[in-house]
Amino acid sequence: MKFDVIEKETVILNPLKDFAEKRIKSEIRIDPLTGRSARICHFMKLKWEKPDLEAFVAGTDAWCPFCSEKVLRVTPCFPDDILPEGRMQKGDMVLFPNIAPYDSISALATFGSRHHIPMTAFSPEHMAGAFGFALDFFRRIEAAGHPEAVYHIINWNYMPPAGSSLIHPHLQVFSTASAPNLLREELAASRGYFEQNGTTYWDDLVDAEKNSGRRYLGRIGRTHWMTAFAPMGVAGDVLAVVEDVPCTLALAEGDLLDIGRGLAKVMAGYDRMGIYSFNMNLFTGQRTDTHFRVYLRFSPRTFFNQKLGTPDVGALQFLYNESVCLAHPEEICEMLKGDFQA
Ligand SMILES: [Zn+2]
Repeated sequence: MKFDVIEKETVILNPLKDFAEKRIKSEIRIDPLTGRSARICHFMKLKWEKPDLEAFVAGTDAWCPFCSEKVLRVTPCFPDDILPEGRMQKGDMVLFPNIAPYDSISALATFGSRHHIPMTAFSPEHMAGAFGFALDFFRRIEAAGHPEAVYHIINWNYMPPAGSSLIHPHLQVFSTASAPNLLREELAASRGYFEQNGTTYWDDLVDAEKNSGRRYLGRIGRTHWMTAFAPMGVAGDVLAVVEDVPCTLALAEGDLLDIGRGLAKVMAGYDRMGIYSFNMNLFTGQRTDTHFRVYLRFSPRTFFNQKLGTPDVGALQFLYNESVCLAHPEEICEMLKGDFQA
């Protein structure tokens, strides 16, 4: 397992110190699986000012389509051949087709009737329940023999900085035969790694991270938590690799609870930095992709300038697909580790 770093140094003449020479370090890291590069630069303290979330959220329930009885009035239903009952319900969670679909089987699942759940108020059981609800839907799609029943994907855009147009917490639930870019690249690279080395990249990654301990957060059941060597988010990413599980549909109920437990710890850690928004995806193979392991990527989202609405993604990231992270993933690991040892 190669964790390659290209070190860089910029020389500027500092206007604050009578134009004395100043050297600024940065580095480029190469993702060991895909070769994707990420820049670690602009080193700053990972601390953001959280807005007054209560004021931010106030009144948004009035027009929220997912609140209380409205969700069963204004959200669409699936046709008979997909889901004869139209929508799925479990407790107060509801799953229905996305009115703005990304694929032919594109659903949304609410976390229940509560309009705003602060990041630190999600219990492991609640998150496990919501993920399990999405899996129930995937099982229906698979049982129906639908041609899109290939990759069963759960995405979570939590709060507007992460791309959510609604406050009301919900998951994006897709079944698709068309794997998104990065997933497709990682699946191909995992297959290549297996053919070349005779071992599974993800198992080797877990071993390497566990042995070095520099980015390894801890193990919960079959889930292994670590900060990403070449992160995609400005405040790093947290990965959770699930042992022995190639696809979301092979996750056991216990795995979902362990994922919920780890997520609650990660959320608590990022909350202390002033983060209140994130993206989370479950990367999955097909059932037969024995070279792959289901893994979760949690990437905190923020504004570079909240007042001006400056997002944390600029041209370098958006158009070149080159990630920028403002701290070393090893330091981020230190900031989150306490929660995993508690
Ligand atoms: Zn709502």
